[in-house]
Amino acid sequence: MHDAAAGRSTTRWREIPPTAGLPLRWHDFVPRPDASLERGFASFIGTPSVQVECSGSAALIVALETLKRGSARRSVVIPAYTCPLVPLAIAHCGLRPVACDLADGHFDMCPRTLEGLCDSDTLAIVPTHLAGRVADVESALRVARRVGAAVIEDAAQALGATWHGEPVGTFGDVGFYSLAAGKGLTLYEGGVIVARDAELRAALHRTSREIVPAGRLWEARRLLELAGYAMFYRPSWLQLAYGVPLRRALRRGKLIEATGDDFSANIPLHRVGAWRKQVGANALKRLPGSLALLAEQAASRKTRLAAIPGVSVAGDSPGRHGVWPFFLVLMESEGKRDAALARLWMSGLGITRLFAHALVDYPYLARHFGTVHTPNARTFAARMLTISNSPWLADEDFEQVCAVLDECARA
Ligand SMILES: *Cc1c(COP(=O)(O)O)cnc(C)c1O
Repeated sequence: MHDAAAGRSTTRWREIPPTAGLPLRWHDFVPRPDASLERGFASFIGTPSVQVECSGSAALIVALETLKRGSARRSVVIPAYTCPLVPLAIAHCGLRPVACDLADGHFDMCPRTLEGLCDSDTLAIVPTHLAGRVADVESALRVARRVGAAVIEDAAQALGATWHGEPVGTFGDVGFYSLAAGKGLTLYEGGVIVARDAELRAALHRTSREIVPAGRLWEARRLLELAGYAMFYRPSWLQLAYGVPLRRALRRGKLIEATGDDFSANIPLHRVGAWRKQVGANALKRLPGSLALLAEQAASRKTRLAAIPGVSVAGDSPGRHGVWPFFLVLMESEGKRDAALARLWMSGLGITRLFAHALVDYPYLARHFGTVHTPNARTFAARMLTISNSPWLADEDFEQVCAVLDECARA
């Protein structure tokens, strides 16, 4: 590393996480009889009840298996740029993922393309609230109503975001959130399902009872991993847990590993134990305060970033209030984005890509998509980088990042 910003931070043994996750405290591990993750979560988003599963992907699997039981439809339409676990979860259920190209320069599915892809085989459409932003659920609902499909809102990255004052995840037939490490509130791995309709909620519970085994070994492992998160999720230790493996992957040119996209098709299904739920319930009490703090920091930093010519930052249109785990930044070309990443990715300042590629460009997903073309998703992946909104990223470090972006955008 010959860059000043990068060199300095790697020598001072400090690593900013790429997203602003909610840190745990050791007393979160002390069970409290009054704390229930389900009740706390339901009251946080204002729904009658929620269902906890062992990951966001597991939540999606339970939702899809439930919908599948009442229908002969077999395809599920998803954005062509999203978490690779989404098509893996769909395939896990024996269903067919259909990648819908994005609107130009935006994370939302193109409404016209969506319209054309949906038909009498469409079981569900999955609008996705990426990067804490609020997705276009309206188009999905409109098309879904026309073809008789369900809408599953993927709010894995957007717990706490609202649209016209109502929480995202609650507009479709089903919504789910992820409690994976780095997504905000975390159980290390976990997921939450919500559904508007009481009958559907009952069916989701039934499916879960039928297809999710106890899996006590998995639960023991996750509890240890959660303790590891409590230990390592701080700037002084994160270099060991995140920075060192990241830089090793980058030096070897392993992009999919560097972005953490090296997922397995074997998605574990098991019950979340009472202790881990208690930890989540305790941490949840700090979530509203944490989200407010992040929103405040984001307001000024977003303005600063958007003032850099040739750099745009995903924001919220009127009526939408997203959350701010990180900034999703688009540069004018792949070349400029790559130049910026070459200087910032290894810097320890919390710069990365969200997902490495458009879905169709992951070798391990190729068999699900064949030769589908999603040019906007590909361009989006190529022009994008993310900047952490962690409160541990100091103002002067953020300024360094802006300076590098400014230089690269002008070049
Ligand atoms: C992380 C993520 C998922 C999957 O959630 P897990 O808890 O990691 O299984 C699904 N969709 C999106 C958009 C995600 O970011």
